Amino acid sequence: MSRFLKNTYAKLEAYTPGEQPKDGEYIKLNTNESPFPPAPEVTEVLEKEDIERLRLYCDPTSAELKGKLAELYGVSSENVFLSNGSDDILNFSMMAWSGKGAVFPDITYGFYPVFAELHGVEYEEIPLKEDFTVDASDYIARDKLIFIANPNAPTGIEMPLSEIERIVASNSDTVVVIDEAYVDFGGTSALPLIEKYENLLVVRTFSKSRCLAGGRLGYAFGCKALIEDLEKIKYSTNPYNINSLTAKLGCATVDADSYYTDRCKEIIKNREYTAKALETLGFTVLKSKSNFIFAKSDKISGEDLYLKLKKRKILVRHFSKERIRDFNRITIGTKAEMDALLENTEEILKEI
Ligand code: PMP
Repeated sequence: MSRFLKNTYAKLEAYTPGEQPKDGEYIKLNTNESPFPPAPEVTEVLEKEDIERLRLYCDPTSAELKGKLAELYGVSSENVFLSNGSDDILNFSMMAWSGKGAVFPDITYGFYPVFAELHGVEYEEIPLKEDFTVDASDYIARDKLIFIANPNAPTGIEMPLSEIERIVASNSDTVVVIDEAYVDFGGTSALPLIEKYENLLVVRTFSKSRCLAGGRLGYAFGCKALIEDLEKIKYSTNPYNINSLTAKLGCATVDADSYYTDRCKEIIKNREYTAKALETLGFTVLKSKSNFIFAKSDKISGEDLYLKLKKRKILVRHFSKERIRDFNRITIGTKAEMDALLENTEEILKEI
């Protein structure tokens, strides 16, 4: 760190992304990516791309992609915002609507407190209940910007839509951001509520269910005025936030929607299979509606299992936070990857 860095940033504890090993020989179950490639139509777009055109700026409005998403989800283009990964939208939301402070659960996506610190926002982290669910009554009439990941991460647990609506309805003077990064794996979206509530933003990503984490594409739905707020911030930071290649890949992805729906079904099947098999091995597995499961064993600590699996070239995600350090978050991969995880876990348990 240089001595020139502003005080606010000097004290900032930055977000730590999951490991991205360079040697590629791991079974990677640590960052909730899809184990499947993008649809063949998406690969085709890249193969046909006229690289010469990269000398031109991209369309800052990403109108084509917005139109396609609007059509797929039955909203108008003016209700759609696009960004370089959904992290950008969460960041912009913190910038835009945190005037009265922010609240979110203590166990949730680790970027929320980082964005709050980054922008000097006062925030409160509300403990999850004993069973790791979010208690909706903690968020009623808070009159602050609220972030709820639904399904939550890293627990994978979903909050019923009726509870989400209760929270949104009771905070009519502040914005409620519902982060639906994992909703496509069996969750229920709050999207239909955007017509009814002008204070609701629903945030999504192409990184998980749409097999495009490296393309960096996030999107959000909200009323026209909320989208205008986000556009104002985008045009004040980086108007060309969606590069032209990613915009084209995004369009092809939306066109190939049924390919992704089928891949999600496969992930859900593999999730239920893995959860059951881990339970047979004595693990406690939280009920997940995501492309990952959160599991702990009373025979081995979370960190020990993480390290032993890593030695065997299987990467899962371990968090050292007190309340969850017995657990590991395991991304759901292919059936073969899950079988490798299960076999190695069984062997590790036998060894101790
Ligand atoms: N929200 C949640 C809950 C996440 O787990 C992630 C992925 N780390 C994101 C948002 C951000 O995903 P991306 O920026 O790749 O869209």
